[in-house]
Amino acid sequence: MNGTEERTKHEGAESSTTHVPLNTPQSAISGHIKVIIIGAGSAGLALAHGLKKAGIPFVIFEKEEELSLKRSWSIALHWGYEPLQYLVPADILAGLEQAQVDPHISITENAPLPMINGENGALIAELQPSKVYRLRRDKFRALLLQGLDVHWGKSLCNIIHSSAGEHVTAKFTDGTELIGSLLVATDGPHSTIRTLLVGEQAAKVTPTDFASTICYTQHTREHALFLRAHPHHPLYQNHATMSINEPCENTLHQKELARRFVDPWRSVFEWMPPDQEVWYSKLRNWDPILLEHQWDNREGRVTLAGDAAHPMAFQRGQGLNHAMKDAYTACKAIESFWNRGNFTIEDRAAAIQAY
Ligand SMILES: Cc1cc2nc3c(=O)[nH]c(=O)nc-3n(C[C@H](O)[C@H](O)[C@H](O)COP(=O)(O)OP(=O)(O)OC[C@H]3O[C@@H](n4cnc5c(N)ncnc54)[C@H](O)[C@@H]3O)c2cc1C
Repeated sequence: MNGTEERTKHEGAESSTTHVPLNTPQSAISGHIKVIIIGAGSAGLALAHGLKKAGIPFVIFEKEEELSLKRSWSIALHWGYEPLQYLVPADILAGLEQAQVDPHISITENAPLPMINGENGALIAELQPSKVYRLRRDKFRALLLQGLDVHWGKSLCNIIHSSAGEHVTAKFTDGTELIGSLLVATDGPHSTIRTLLVGEQAAKVTPTDFASTICYTQHTREHALFLRAHPHHPLYQNHATMSINEPCENTLHQKELARRFVDPWRSVFEWMPPDQEVWYSKLRNWDPILLEHQWDNREGRVTLAGDAAHPMAFQRGQGLNHAMKDAYTACKAIESFWNRGNFTIEDRAAAIQAY
């Protein structure tokens, strides 16, 4: 990575709100030729690898102080594997099995992906991907961090667009800022940049009728063998993420709700210690296709990717896969005009609009 600059003051006449039309037909961009990535989740890190491979300078910022091991969850990587393969080096791909919830399970044992009705055990639907990695998010992020230099503890609070249409300035809550030629927002489902682009009201996620409660627990060997055994497979990898349409913020309530379930979901909650931490969250979405959600990419200077662009409920295991596809498509779009840093505003605008 090169071209990192952090400054405490920004240069030139700039505006965060006015959209200034370009006055020259082909305007070369000079200085600050780099991509700024906001958010070191799966999408931001995958994109960073893609840019690194392509020799495109970038800087990646993350608001967390360090890699958090709290509040992780399992994620199925299936059709997002091919885009990821394009972006990351071979050693990261080779580490995917170890980044699984259970690294001892070979990926051939994961497919297909059943969706089961917890009340009666009936199969609702079955995804038939060619390969599935049941990743643990924290382990996957740690893997993607290899070879990247993330700027931790940097929370973006504003973006400024230069009046000449060339640059974008990322401003952080600690008073620092950085100028780049393109900013990709991979700052997750509650994206600050989405709010800056479409306004507070339009950026709001829409709650669905469902919520999830995630519980972390350990089991005795005997219980674990039961939970892993046929026909419960692949519960061992799913650690029972379930969606219910009523709030549940403590373990006892969760245990009570789980009495409606068939095994193994009934037992997994029954055996959980009563003081176990549970994490409740409403499931929400935001549809980028809606007219009121279309954002102005400011001559290709700013765009969204991953959950920032389309937070969605996780039941069909699509969010990460779309995030990988976005990172791939954004990377290809940037590669298409970058030409070793020699590009015009129009080149960039056309490529990012197409993305
Ligand atoms: C319980 C659960 C199960 C799931 N299961 C699946 C599954 O099986 N398959 C699947 O495909 N998907 C699944 N998903 C969805 C998947 O986890 C997400 O779609 C994916 O992780 C999105 O990645 P992202 O990088 O876009 O966002 P995130 O992973 O949310 O990363 C965003 C990053 O940006 C940082 N950030 C936020 N604001 C700022 C700021 N202002 N400045 C700097 N940094 C900032 C955040 O700290 C975070 O690190 C699941 C989600 C949940 C919650």
